[in-house]
Amino acid sequence: MAGEPQDDCLFCKIVAGQVPATVVRETDTTVAFRDINPQAPTHVLVIPKAHYKDAAALAAAAPDLAADVLRETQAVADEEKLESYRIVFNTGSGAGQTVWHAHAHVLGGRGLQWPPG
Ligand code: 5GP
Ligand code: ZN
Repeated sequence: MAGEPQDDCLFCKIVAGQVPATVVRETDTTVAFRDINPQAPTHVLVIPKAHYKDAAALAAAAPDLAADVLRETQAVADEEKLESYRIVFNTGSGAGQTVWHAHAHVLGGRGLQWPPG
């Protein structure tokens, strides 16, 4: 069923506490934790606790939850005192998505080029 935890999902395991992560924020519906392979001085992932395979599935099935994730990216940026930052939802393998549980990357603390390449 949409949103149910998946046994084979790394981020569901982080939500369940079965895989350790450096959690920076948690709400009833979301978790934010540091990326294990940071691409910037601040690189935090914000995920819904419920499982949706990507941002498109999340937005279509649970728009209020998608809004929670977006609000949390802002809260992370505030806590990390980021003046400028980038929010990325890699969606599909061609765009670099490797974990199939919706997540927003919050990147900041260095200059970021556009287009990203
Ligand atoms: P994607 O490539 O799907 O957009 O992003 C997945 C992100 O998850 C990558 O930036 C990767 O470094 C991060 N990641 C993969 N495995 C782990 C892990 O076990 N713990 C944490 N904290 N991040 C992970
Ligand atoms: Zn999951």
